[in-house]
Formats: sequence, structure tokens, C-alpha cells
Amino acid sequence: MADTNIPELLTSPHPTLYLEDGTHVLQVEHTLYKLHRHILCKFSQTFKDMFIVGTDEKVNFHNVQDGLGSALEGSGANDSCPIIIPQITCVEWDPFISLAYGIEYVEPPYKPQLLRNWLNMSKRFQSASVTRKALHAIASRPFSFPPAELVRLAREYEMEELIRPAFRMLLDTPLHELNDNDCQMIGWRVYRELTLVKEAITIHRKIVATEAPKLTHSPECRNNELCTQDWEGIWWNGMGRLLMDPYISLSYDEAFRRFQTLEFGEMEVVCKQAALQRVDEGQAFLHTVPLVSATISRLTALLFAEAW
Ligand SMILES: [Zn+2]
Repeated sequence: MADTNIPELLTSPHPTLYLEDGTHVLQVEHTLYKLHRHILCKFSQTFKDMFIVGTDEKVNFHNVQDGLGSALEGSGANDSCPIIIPQITCVEWDPFISLAYGIEYVEPPYKPQLLRNWLNMSKRFQSASVTRKALHAIASRPFSFPPAELVRLAREYEMEELIRPAFRMLLDTPLHELNDNDCQMIGWRVYRELTLVKEAITIHRKIVATEAPKLTHSPECRNNELCTQDWEGIWWNGMGRLLMDPYISLSYDEAFRRFQTLEFGEMEVVCKQAALQRVDEGQAFLHTVPLVSATISRLTALLFAEAW
């Protein structure tokens, strides 16, 4: 937190944002910024309000609804009387205020911490352009954010496009890894849908693991009974174990890839090849896709319909 009694001697101008032709001097921590009133007003509703409410002699943030309150004072006319911005660090301020001057503080892709900072600062200083920029960057790379936070952002900023990636990531997240804060961000309705889908997927996985697909024997098959027996045995010992292993969580595709490398006993080769092809093309492995899609569509519809 900035100390409003920092002696002038301890302050120093910012290397790039102390602009000689600027109209007002602002101080964040021990750094001075000389900026332009018209740019600040265009960039931030808070600054616009401040300059309207303040006088030439003493600018202040009275009546500004961002919580800065009356702690902000100073005319900003020179280095001796800067407009002091409290409760902000230069680490937060620099990447934010740089955007007012079109300066790319860092190159994209932006890290989540920077995007969070932009959103926090844009909320505090009411900057619609920074909010838009941050949300656009988040929507273009949603998988860099934790899923629970994506759900919170989707709700707060009414961004439907974040629901799908968030839910997909949540499906891959064990429930015990979601802490209280995550659950709060997700909301009870999303959490409930999540548990229902996870349960349905688990049940379906057990069904696939335990029920070998029905075999259609080739005319060349010498012993249908033995062929079926080996198929069912290898399915249970192969796919069954691969899908139900509590220590590894394989996708259907990966489990099937490993399954094909196993020994198939006395099965007729033609029967085996036909069976594997049917499994590969079948709907069993695709079951979760429409299930998840339907859930996401339902959640998305709820986004604006009711409180979560
Ligand atoms: Zn056969």
C-alpha cells in the first residue's frame, strides 16, 4: 500500500511513462507518472469522474464508486503535488496504464496472472477497453485458466464460450481436487451437473468393460464356441482391466490401442479382425460425447436464465 506521506525525495519518474508533455503527475508507490488528462479520461471512467468532480487546485476521488475514497488527493500539477493513487503497486499499475498509451507491456500470449490483473484494475478504474481486451485474450486461450475460474468468469461476464472448455476440463479433474473455493466459483448447479455426468460416464465405462461386444463369426471360423469364449475372456482381462484400472485413467482410444496388442488365444484371425473393426467403428466409445454436449448446452442455456 502506498504511503501518502512518502517524502518527495524518495520518488522517481517512471522510465517510459513520465511523459514530458503530460498534463498531470500521478504517483504509485514511489514512482511518478506524467500522463495526459484526456487520455486518462478516455481510458477510464473513474479518472473521467475524478477530473470532473475535482478542481484544478485539488483533484480528488470523492463520489467515485471504486472504493478509492478521499485518500486520493493532490493536484497533479507537478512532482511536488502528484495525484497519489493508493493501494496499488507498480506491478499492477504498469501493465494496466501502459494500455492507455497503446504500449504492449508484454507480448501475447498473455499469462493468466496478467489477465487477472487487467480485469481487477479495469474493474477498479472502470476501463471498458481493458475489460474487453482481457476477456478476448481469455476466450482465445481458455485452457490456460483453471476450470473453476473459467466458470466464475463465464458467469460474471456472461461469456457462454467459456462454459464448454471449462466443463471439459472439469470432467478431467477428480472431484477431490476441487477445493471449497473452486466449488464456490463453480456454483452448485454446475457442480451437480458435473457429478451426474461423471457418474453416468463411470457407469457406462463399467458396462463397456464388462460386456464384450457380440461376435459375428466368419464362415471360416472352425470353432464358434471356442472363438466366443476366447473373445469374451480376452475382452474382460484386456479391456476390462484397462478401463477399470483405478490407478490409470485411460481414454477409450488408448485402452483400445493397448487391447489390440494383446494375445487373442484360439480366436479365428478373421473373426478377431472383424470384431476389432466393429469395436473401433461402434458407438460404445462415443457414448460420452453426446452426453457431455447435451449437458454443456443445458448449462449454457441456464447461464442467463436463472441464478446458479
Ligand atoms: Zn469365430
